[in-house]
This record gives sequence, C-alpha cells and structure tokens, in this order.
Amino acid sequence: MEGSAGALARYRMFIGGEWADAASGRTFESFNPYTARPWAEVPEGGADDVDRAVEAADAAFRTGDWPALTATARGHMMRRLADAIVENADHLAEIEVRDNGKLIAEMSAQCKYMAQWYYYYAGLCDKIEGSVIPIDKPGHFNYTLWEPLGVCACIVPWNSPLLLLAWKLAPLLAAGNTAVVKPSEYTSASTLEFMKIVERILPPGVVNVVTGFGADAGRALVEHPRVAKVAFTGSDATGAAVYAGAARHLKRVTMELGGKSPNIVFDDAHMDNAVKGVISGIFAATGQTCIAGSRLLVQDTIHDAFVEKLVALARTARIGNPASFETQVGPVTNTMQYEKVLGYMSVAVEEGAETALGGGVPEGPEIGDGWFVEPTIFTGVRNDMRIAQEEVFGPVLSVIPFHDEDEAVAIGNDVVYGLAAGVWTGSMGRALGMASRLEAGTVWVNTYRAVSYLSPFGGYKRSGIGRESGQDMIREYLQQKSVWIETSGAEAANPFVLR
Ligand code: NAD
Repeated sequence: MEGSAGALARYRMFIGGEWADAASGRTFESFNPYTARPWAEVPEGGADDVDRAVEAADAAFRTGDWPALTATARGHMMRRLADAIVENADHLAEIEVRDNGKLIAEMSAQCKYMAQWYYYYAGLCDKIEGSVIPIDKPGHFNYTLWEPLGVCACIVPWNSPLLLLAWKLAPLLAAGNTAVVKPSEYTSASTLEFMKIVERILPPGVVNVVTGFGADAGRALVEHPRVAKVAFTGSDATGAAVYAGAARHLKRVTMELGGKSPNIVFDDAHMDNAVKGVISGIFAATGQTCIAGSRLLVQDTIHDAFVEKLVALARTARIGNPASFETQVGPVTNTMQYEKVLGYMSVAVEEGAETALGGGVPEGPEIGDGWFVEPTIFTGVRNDMRIAQEEVFGPVLSVIPFHDEDEAVAIGNDVVYGLAAGVWTGSMGRALGMASRLEAGTVWVNTYRAVSYLSPFGGYKRSGIGRESGQDMIREYLQQKSVWIETSGAEAANPFVLR
C-alpha cells in the first residue's frame, strides 16, 4: 500500500462498512521507524467521526444481519474471518513491519497465530449458556441469560496492534457485541488493512475504526454515552485517565496496562537456558512489550558469572532492518519512545548504575536512519532507583542481586506493577513456592513470554483490571439477565406486602 516514488500511501477510516475521511478533512503522517520517514497518511478523526462510528455500531447491534444470526452462524462467520487472516497473514505482517518496525521474523508467525483467537472464540459463540435456578419461591420459574453489552470501544497501543486487537475483538464479537476501534496514532495502518478483510466478511457497522489521537478521538470514544464498555491496552497513566472517563458514565472496563516484571534466576537454574530466557524477556521486540522482563534478579552466588554470559550473548544481537529475517533487534517504533529510552539510559547512569552493555545509539551500515538504541544492560542497580521502578519500554535491562528466596520475593513484588514474572530454578518446590508468592498475573517457570488464546492474561496491581484470553473472559463482554415466571396460575397475593 506504500505510495510509489515517494508518494504517501493514503488510508481512510472504516465506518458503517464504508471508507471515510475525517469530518474535519485533517490527516496525519505515519512513519516507518527504520527510515524515520513518513510512508502513509491517516485521517485525523475526532468527536464527529466517533459519533458516526458509534451510531453505525449501535445500529448494527440492534438491527440488520448481526443480531439476527444464530450463535452458530455467528461462529461460522468468525471462522471465515480467521481463515482470511491466515490467508492474508504475510501481507498484514509486511504492513506491521513497515509501520511499527517489528521484526518480520516475529510478525510472519504472529499474524498467523493471531487467527487462533478468532477460531477459539468462534467455537464459544454457541456455548454461551444460561442456567435454570432451583428457586426457593413456590410457583415460580427462574432462569438466566447471558446477553451482549452493545457497542464496545477497543483502544489499542502501538506495540502489537493486530494481536492486541484480536484479544478484544474475537471475544466481543463471539458474545454478539459490535465494536469501534481506535488504534494508536503511531500505528494505524495494519488495523485499516485488516478492515479490508473484515469488510468482506462481517455485516456493515459490526466493526468500525476511527483513527486519530488519544486526547481527541480516544477520549470522545471513552466518553460516548452509547459505548457500553471500554477495552483498553496501554500505559497505566493513560489507563487511569480512561478509567476515570469511563467511570463518569459507569461503563465497564478491561485494562491491560504496563509492567516492570522481575525475571528471577536462582543458582540451581539451567544457566544457558536462563541466559536465553532473560535475553528474550528484554530484547525481543526491542523491549517494547508490556511483559518485558526488565528487572533481572540474580542470586548473589552466581551474579558475576551469569552477567558475563548474558553480556557475551547479548553482544551478538544482529541489529538492523526489521524487514530482514536475519535481524534480531529492530528499531524503536517512534521518535517519542526513542527519546524516552535514551532519557532513561541517562537516568540510570546518573543514579549510579554501571553500564555492562550498550547505553547509547548503535552505528554501522546495517542501521538505517531510524530510531535505534543499543541493547543495554545496567548492573549495580538498586530496586529503589527509577530505572528499576519505572517502565522504560525499550531494550534496557536492570540487574539486581539477591541473597535468598525471601529477598527475591520482596524485591520482585516491590513495584507498583504486577503483570508478569519469570523464575529460573531446578527445584520444583521452589518453583511452586515462588509462583504462589509473586504478585503477578502471569508467572513463567524456566520459560518466558509464552502466551496463548487458551490461557488468561492480565495484571495484578497497577498492571490492569480484568483478563484477556481463555474461556472465562468472554464474560467480560456479557451481562447476565435473570428471568422470573409465575407458573402456578394462583391468585396474586396482597400487593402491599413484599414477600
Ligand atoms: P498509551 O497509553 O500512550 O496509548 C494507548 C492508546 O490509548 C492509544 O491508542 C492512544 O491513542 C490512546 N489514548 C491516549 N490518551 C487517551 C485518552 N485520554 N483517552 C482515550 N484514549 C487515549 O500507550 P502506548 O504508548 O501506545 O503503549 C505502550 C503501553 O502499553 C506500555 O505501558 C505497555 O506496557 C502497555 N501495554 C500493555 C499490554 C498488556 O496487555 N498489559 C500490552 C501491550 C502494551
């Protein structure tokens, strides 16, 4: 979709099954992080566009083909959508690499795997069952129904646009809702490309996309009175503002927020596997993942030897063009994030951390003009330093020594976040104990980063509210109705007395 000879690709929003410009006519540019140059132009949607999109989603929820479908037919439709994602995965991956700077090696697999969320929740469509309650009131029959909420807002960050959208869209559609999506202003293109697939399969208005900035389109969507629920992924600071906006209208929310996850290595761990796990925890996706294992806690008995091995392997990372399958570390996605990561590197040094690897901007022919930072390891970090407490969201690892299990737990839990944690040990008893004591929505033992459509994902503490993925979370997009029927036909009792 890139324009030829330097021309920008032009995208339009997707509202009510049609392609639309912003009501204001305004657009903004989307940048390729490898070249640091704009490659596409995207509509700058605002409150008027949000109104149109919510109206379209509301109409599609109440009338027309979508609510008329049986649950089984809805499941068939979602399976066709999943098939189409698999067929178009390479194209979606290519757009994501250009717009986001994610590695093609990661994206070509992720865009195919993303279809599993749609297949999985397609299978749940016709298994949403209420129950008959053995009620205590004689002559009454009581049963429950699980019903959809209505229009759901999906607000997505820039680090994994299509995958994080799938985590929301697949269950909400399976539950019978409709959606208005607001992708990040940094990475709107892949979501709009995805709408070209949605357009062919789902009825108009079931999924709508408004592009634009958080403070305009995003806020208008959160505060729109006809949006029943906000499913948000992003930073905890924005999450708090979104939560407050949703609260004004008493909306439901799910919040998938930031993290400062500890990756904890004991001296009885398989050392080489732990080194690789720590590297994938912090340097995959250039550290721009909510689950980044950005605090490495190493038992003091192996600290120096472990850090030596870690630095030796991390030094071999092939940094460069994300469109090459050989590349292991790509650019940071946007200039704001690039400045932020470099700023945190300075903070770490000012706080007294020692630079064991990196700490600056890489050089060499393989580096484009883009927003690259070096994979960086700081040692001598104390857990009360900013570099250990705040989410950097880049390839920056802070190494903190610990003495025993109690201290590992105390340091591991001593942050405001609780998204994930890793434990590396050869002892099953220790693994089980640590899994129970760590305050995190996900704990990995002798592995890191595994996620699946089958398993719930979400945060403790400031890392979030609610869960995504897995069977139970479809309830996040449903509401329960209790139906009472008088069955005895007996004469009604005294209406002035409650029974
Ligand atoms: P962000 O919070 O800046 O933006 C996220 C989205 O919110 C964007 O679409 C943005 O336009 C929108 N937004 C901004 N202000 C808004 C407002 N006032 N009202 C409504 N919407 C608004 O986050 P980001 O920088 O795009 O993404 C990085 C963050 O996302 C990190 O903190 C990361 O940890 C987090 N994240 C969490 C998960 C998870 O599942 N827990 C997954 C990925 C990323």
